[in-house]
Amino acid sequence: MQIKEQNEINWIDSRIKQDEIDKYLDNGKCFLDEIEINNALKDNCEPDSNYIRKILNKSLMIKNLSLKETAALLNVKDPDVLSEMKDAALKIKKKVYDNRVVTFAPLYLGNYCVNNCLYCGFKKDNIDAQRKVLDHQEIINETKALAGEIGHKRLIVVYGEHPKNDIDYIVDSISTIYNVKVKARQGEGNIRRVNVNAPPFAINDLKKLPQVGIGTYQVFQETYHRQTYEHIHPSNTIKGNYLWRLYAMHRAFEAGIDDIGLGVLFGLYDWKFEVMALIKHSLELERVFGIGPHTVSFPRLEPALNTKMDDLMNYQVSDEDFKKIILVLRLSIPHTGMIITARESGAMRKESLELGVTQMDASTKIGVGAYQKDTNIQDEHKQQFILGDQRSLDELIRELCSEGMITSFCTAGYRCGRTGKCIMDLLRKGEEGKFCKLNAIITFQEWLDDFSSEDTKKIARPIIEKEINEVQEKYPEIYPKFKEFYERTKNGERDLYI
Ligand code: SF4
Repeated sequence: MQIKEQNEINWIDSRIKQDEIDKYLDNGKCFLDEIEINNALKDNCEPDSNYIRKILNKSLMIKNLSLKETAALLNVKDPDVLSEMKDAALKIKKKVYDNRVVTFAPLYLGNYCVNNCLYCGFKKDNIDAQRKVLDHQEIINETKALAGEIGHKRLIVVYGEHPKNDIDYIVDSISTIYNVKVKARQGEGNIRRVNVNAPPFAINDLKKLPQVGIGTYQVFQETYHRQTYEHIHPSNTIKGNYLWRLYAMHRAFEAGIDDIGLGVLFGLYDWKFEVMALIKHSLELERVFGIGPHTVSFPRLEPALNTKMDDLMNYQVSDEDFKKIILVLRLSIPHTGMIITARESGAMRKESLELGVTQMDASTKIGVGAYQKDTNIQDEHKQQFILGDQRSLDELIRELCSEGMITSFCTAGYRCGRTGKCIMDLLRKGEEGKFCKLNAIITFQEWLDDFSSEDTKKIARPIIEKEINEVQEKYPEIYPKFKEFYERTKNGERDLYI
C-alpha cells in the first residue's frame, strides 16, 4: 500500500471520537425516537380545523410548535384550511422578516471526498468525477469574481470530507476570503459573512471556526431515518456513522459556535417523517443549549453522475408536497431563516417566497473554481448536481424588486454579537427587524451604487424610498442616525451598519 493511501486511512480512522457521541446520549439512547414520530403522525392524521386554527395562532405568536402540532399541519388536506395556513405563514414571515430577502452564493472549495454516499456525484468511487481543491491564489480569484464583479457580501463555503479539506485548510481558506478587497464602482467589494457547510468535526476542531469569524455552521443530516441512512451511507465510511452526524451540532455548540443551520435532503425517505425529525432536532437543541437553528435548508434530491438513482427514487417529493414542506417549516419554527437554493427552478423559488423562504443564492456556480471562468455551462463531471436557476444576482434582485421586496446585504448580526440566543430572542420579539430594516436599506443602496445594472437601479428606487419613509414613521428615535449613515453610504463610504 502506498504511503498516501495509508495516510488517508489513518486520517479516516482518527475522525470519530466515540466519547463525543456517548456523552450526549440519554442512557445510551439518542434524542430521535422514530416510534414517537410515527405515532404523532398516525394520531394526528385527520386534524380538526379548529385545532389547526389554534395551532396557527400559536405560530403567529412566534412560538415553536410541538411534534404533535407539526404532525397535524403535515396532515391537512382541506384546501380551505391549507389556504389559512398559507395566510398565516406569510403573516409570520412579514412579522419576523418583513419584505427582506437575504442573498448569498455558494463557493465550493474542493470536491475530494472519502465517503461513498450512493446519491452523490462526488462519492469516492466515482472515478469519472474531476477532482480539485482550490489553492490560495484560486480562492482569491474566486472571491474576486464573487465580491468584485457580482457584489456578493455573503458566501456559503462548501467542503468535501477529505484530508485535503481538513479543518486547518477550512480556517485558512476563510481567512483568505475575508482578506480579499476589490475595487468597485464607488467603493470596494468584499465578503463580510462566510457561512460554512462542512463535515461534522470533533469539538477541538470545531473550536477553530469561531476564531476565524464564521457566520452559520451547517451540517445536513441528509435523512433522519436511520435504516435509510445506513443503507445509503456505507458503514465503512465516516459518514456511515449516523450518530456522529446527528450530534454534530451538539458538539458545535459545545465548541462555542452559536449559529447553526440544519437541513434534510428531501427524497431519500418519507418527507413527513423528515420534517418531523428536523423539528425534533431543532427542539432538542433548544432544550439542551437554549438555541435552535438560525436557518433550515430543504434541498430535493437531484440525479448525479454515476449514481444508481433508480434505487433511490421511491420517495421523490412532488412540487405540491415540496411547497407544503416549506409551509409547515415556516409555521413550526417561525423565527427561523429558510433557504431555497438555485437547485430549484426560478418559478419554484418565486413561489416559495410567499410560503416563508427568506434566503436565496444567485449567480450560482457549483463547479470547483467555476466563478473565475466566464461561462455558465454546467458540467456534471465537476458538479454535485445540475442547477435549476442560473439567473444572475442582478436579475434576481430585479425580480424581487418587482414583487416589492428589498434585498438585504446586511452582515452586521454576527459582527455586533447579535447571534445565538440573542438573535433568536430578537427575532421572536420582532425586534431584530428594526436593525435589519435599517441595515438592509443601507447595504442595498451600497450594492446598487457599486454593482447593479441601470434597469435594476430604476426599479429599486421606489422601493428604497418607501423603506426610508417607513423607517421615519416606525423608528423616529433612530431615524436621524440611520439617515446620516444612508447619506454617507450614498457619498461613497462603505460597510456602515447599526
Ligand atoms: Fe462526500 Fe458529501 Fe458527496 Fe457524501 S454527499 S459523497 S460526504 S461530498
